Amino acid sequence: MLDTPLLVTQMVERAETLFPKKMVVSRTSTGIQRFTYRQFGERTRKLASVLNKLGVNKGERIGTLGWNHHRHLEAYFAIPGIGAVLHTINIRLSPEQIVYIINHAEDKILMIDDDFVPLIEKVKDKLTSVKAFIVMTDQKELPETSLSPVYSYEELIKDGDGNFTFVTDLDENAPAGMCYTSATTGNPKGVLYSHRAIVLHSLILGLADTGAISEQDTVMPIVPMFHVNAWGLPFASVWFGSNIVLPGPFFTPKILVELLESEKVTISAGVPTIWLGVAKELEEGNYDLSHVRAVLCGGSAAPKGLIKTFEKKFNIPFMHAYGMTETTPLVLAAKLKSEHEDLPEEERYDLKAKQGILVPGIQMKVIGQNGEVVRDGREIGELCLRGPWIASEYYKDERTKEAFKDGWLHTGDVVTVDEHGFVKIVDRTKDLIKSGGEWISSVDIENALMAHEAVFEAAVIAVPHEKWQERPVACVVLKDAYKDKVTKEDLLEFLRPQFAKWWLPDEIIFMDEIPKTSVGKFLKRALRDQVKGMLSG
Ligand code: ADP
Repeated sequence: MLDTPLLVTQMVERAETLFPKKMVVSRTSTGIQRFTYRQFGERTRKLASVLNKLGVNKGERIGTLGWNHHRHLEAYFAIPGIGAVLHTINIRLSPEQIVYIINHAEDKILMIDDDFVPLIEKVKDKLTSVKAFIVMTDQKELPETSLSPVYSYEELIKDGDGNFTFVTDLDENAPAGMCYTSATTGNPKGVLYSHRAIVLHSLILGLADTGAISEQDTVMPIVPMFHVNAWGLPFASVWFGSNIVLPGPFFTPKILVELLESEKVTISAGVPTIWLGVAKELEEGNYDLSHVRAVLCGGSAAPKGLIKTFEKKFNIPFMHAYGMTETTPLVLAAKLKSEHEDLPEEERYDLKAKQGILVPGIQMKVIGQNGEVVRDGREIGELCLRGPWIASEYYKDERTKEAFKDGWLHTGDVVTVDEHGFVKIVDRTKDLIKSGGEWISSVDIENALMAHEAVFEAAVIAVPHEKWQERPVACVVLKDAYKDKVTKEDLLEFLRPQFAKWWLPDEIIFMDEIPKTSVGKFLKRALRDQVKGMLSG
């Protein structure tokens, strides 16, 4: 066979030539903007040409601090288009962590939204590698800023070359992208994505049994473009010629639902907390989302109750999936097999609430507590993965040896695998609750609680216990209509038939809000501190 490299740049070319009229719809601070793929291609080439002129070399990193919008999408392709590396920075990390990762990645240029200019101004003296700033703003004139040299995106690309040729003499294993995990302890860890990994992963998103993304779709990634490349959706959408809708800054569930409706979105993706908010909005408002053919949900466990609400109440198919920064990310997708069609409804939903089966191309093994490979579906063990879009190391980081061993990524996720090959994430290793020598899954109790009609969110954590070592405590946010009407005993009563007695939480604490990580997952470390204070106080 001819050995042609798999490069991200070919994606833009295909969109421009085969789907010139398909649309990029971008919600920005000044309203909705629309571009055809022809315009998008020209703007992307212009950006690539000016980045080239600014002296960015192959392999060098360009950092982005931005919401999901068209300029960020252009950067997604212009940066790899000159052989440089798109380093998407999580805007919700602390300023210290942002400084750490910009310096660690040695970003040469920073492309930032107006919103983040004040943040970067504050830390600019600590940045050791950045040579220039580009503000991704709707305004032609830049606001007063102490950043220097600084360019306005639109002014800069005005003089760019719309016919710029993307690099072709690149090894497909060269890095195209980079992302840091939002480490819950220690500094974030960087992962480089090769062109090859991104291209192969994009193909996977097009499979009928995963996202089935096609030219007929209008795709709305709600998952941020700084969170594992919005799960790869921008790459797949452009390549396959789907319309793409980018929901921009500071959205609310209402804004999201309005966009889903007005832009006739067919497929969208986000973490469970997003879909919990959307579900609430759909329950309260009057919307027509009959065109939505799939909702993808991952990043943390999607509660069964949420899946049922979408499918049964709103008639929107819901697909649970799993991945991580280290895996580009898609690894597991919970699409039922044909043999499951006749299962009773509850059993089907039990399967859909698992994270699913391996996508083609990835291999897995499960390692038990004593290092043995687990084959029995009832036993738990750590999920290990390998394949062409699984990272082989952390970028310049000693912690590589903790997670990458013997050619496998050790995910730190504890799983069981059933007879159907469906993987269930039981917990993150560090969140499992060890009570009297036995394991309790915090995720299982959370999901059960979130299936109660009064519960909006629930997170379960371990608290130290003299006799049992650790015991579960549940933190629950009630829906507004049920506040002060549902008691701890009501919820325990609801859990009792579902679990062994020793699994029941020792305490249920009602809260107004559960602390979340920068990407919307429950922040259990903060919750543990908070609860410790409450229980001792
Ligand atoms: P971060 O580590 O920065 O929070 P990642 O997206 O890399 O962000 O997190 C990956 C982790 O998220 C996985 O290791 C797993 O623990 C969790 N996760 C991802 N998808 C799911 C899912 N569908 N169900 C349960 N946990 C999930």
